[in-house]
Amino acid sequence: MRSLLRVVVAALVAFLVGLPRPGAAAAIDESFADACKRWSALSLQGPSRPVTDLRLVSGHLTLELKRGSAALVLAGSDVVGIFFVGQGSLEYLTEDAVERPIVSYNVKKNTSLTEVARDKALVLGDTVREVLWLAQGVALPALTGEGTGQPLDTAFTEHLQRYGRIRETPPAQQFAAWLQNGQGQPLQRGEIVASSDDLVFLSDPVDARSELLASTREVKELDNRLYLTTLSEQPLGRARRDPVAPRVILADADIAVTASAGKDVSLTVKETYTAVSGRTGVLLLNLYDSLYGRSNQDLRHLKVKSVIDDSGAWLPFHHERDSLAVELATPIQQGMTAKLRFEIEGDILYRPEGDSYWELGVEPWFPQPEMGGQYCTIHTTVKVPKPFVPFVPGKTVRRVEEGELNVLETRLDKPVQFMVILAGKYAFKEETKDGVTVRIASYAGKNDLAMAKLLNLTRKIITYYEGFLGPFPFDEFNVVEINDLGYGQAPPAFMFITKEAFNPIGDDINELFSKGINERFAHEIAHQYWGHVVKMPTHEEQWLTEAFAEVSAGQVIRDLRGKSDFKGLVAVWKNRARQATEIAPIPLANRVANKSNRYAAWSARTYLLYAKGPWVLNSIREQIGDQAFLVFLASCQSTFRWKFGNTPTVQAVLEAVTKQDWKAFFDAYYWGTEMPQK
Ligand SMILES: [Zn+2]
Repeated sequence: MRSLLRVVVAALVAFLVGLPRPGAAAAIDESFADACKRWSALSLQGPSRPVTDLRLVSGHLTLELKRGSAALVLAGSDVVGIFFVGQGSLEYLTEDAVERPIVSYNVKKNTSLTEVARDKALVLGDTVREVLWLAQGVALPALTGEGTGQPLDTAFTEHLQRYGRIRETPPAQQFAAWLQNGQGQPLQRGEIVASSDDLVFLSDPVDARSELLASTREVKELDNRLYLTTLSEQPLGRARRDPVAPRVILADADIAVTASAGKDVSLTVKETYTAVSGRTGVLLLNLYDSLYGRSNQDLRHLKVKSVIDDSGAWLPFHHERDSLAVELATPIQQGMTAKLRFEIEGDILYRPEGDSYWELGVEPWFPQPEMGGQYCTIHTTVKVPKPFVPFVPGKTVRRVEEGELNVLETRLDKPVQFMVILAGKYAFKEETKDGVTVRIASYAGKNDLAMAKLLNLTRKIITYYEGFLGPFPFDEFNVVEINDLGYGQAPPAFMFITKEAFNPIGDDINELFSKGINERFAHEIAHQYWGHVVKMPTHEEQWLTEAFAEVSAGQVIRDLRGKSDFKGLVAVWKNRARQATEIAPIPLANRVANKSNRYAAWSARTYLLYAKGPWVLNSIREQIGDQAFLVFLASCQSTFRWKFGNTPTVQAVLEAVTKQDWKAFFDAYYWGTEMPQK
């Protein structure tokens, strides 16, 4: 963290110690960096007190701390929480019918919590033996026990270490940012050690606008890092069906990448943020600080050297656990912008299996907000040592050689999410027709035949989609071979596709995968419409990209390959949908987790988004007919053109197209776990 120039007013009020000042907000003119420092070094205030029958209640969570010892927790000299060790119990209630199936599944597959139905609610319960409760903007219960409890220092240190392994926004960042961003609202976090699970509770009424109950899971092959599994997430002050609006959007980025011939890279990223709601003094962004290559022997790092705003001020920042918090010189409110320049260095040019390429993928390799805040036009310049050839989304401004370097400059003038860059030993072929350049890049040697074939296939599919989804959304489209098998991915103006697409005739493995190539190609190209023209604001709206891309691919298969292939595809959707439908409703597919059987969780999620979603859309097609269905898809495109989509509006579009009420249909099959029969 950078040193600070600001006067720390908080220090002046800090002598008011001794008495707990429950939930007292620190002076707002305390700098973020100082607040973050205080919150990064939590301590216990004096000896603990005995506790009997202390209740901690927040939203749907009740903790009964029956007996044990507790001490007040300090951030600097402010009392910010309570640490308890002893015997207690937890009760958490979910009243949300939409999430109920997946709450039940995740609790069973990931925890030893009990669940009991009570009226229309589900009650989760367990015993509790340790709690760290942190709160801002809301009173803490007083510790009134007489005398001294057991020493808690060791338990407290161990607790902080254990929970500190969770890869999420560190509580220090979250609470310190809250002082400036929280608008006086309460923020509460419980770290609860239950009978055999470590739980996290978070009540955030401003940003997430939800209350979350999660359990931790350890990933052994990543150095025992901990990740959170959502058990329940209930909306606060909003309807579940409405996506949460971000506080800021990243509106423009100018990215300069200088790659070494090895694994080092340096980035200069100029970003423009626009405030959407609230008052933002601290930007909470995502940016890798460390990541693994293939194994946990291969830890890579990304380091922020500086953040400077457009007035030349050096901004304090805090970068930890893939979260980057930046304090703005002046807070921004609705419509205001902040322009920042980041200098970043790292050794993250990872070459899979020692291959001759690297990819800066859809993960946060440059500073960016959550996906609902990614809405940016991008200018990019990439310099890579020869013989590597770079590929970047956007219209080519120049592709030149500068001495030992290959240089590519591009511009994306449409707002996008999921920006990527790739460079490696590639050859490519490109062709411009009707204003769209299609570029096919093959890995490790020129594969003329495959490139010509794929160029033709890509062009055919684009022309087909243009017939009902509108003009192809980008000036250039890159199809880039990945030296692996069995998948495709669709960043903006891009398709990564594994090598069997380039070698359709070959060994048995290629034979196996190539059957799906046409379908996969059609699916990935459809993402330029479903994913980039129509964007998903949150993971809960992912069917807008996956199910709509898949059902559009289905149309390609039917009309360009034949009815029997299409029938086969629909049968696969139905069969897979059936296997997953009871686990979760489509919007909560991304929550599915299974500690002892990760494949089961992976397939359930996949089947919900890529099979049940298309099956539901196909059922709409069956009911309204081909023509009206194409009008429906086209209307979704025009309604959400270059915007974030959402399912309530999709339903409204369908109702406008068909002049029918579709509420019961969406309630049962999208928000619920039922299967349309046809
Ligand atoms: Zn997809």
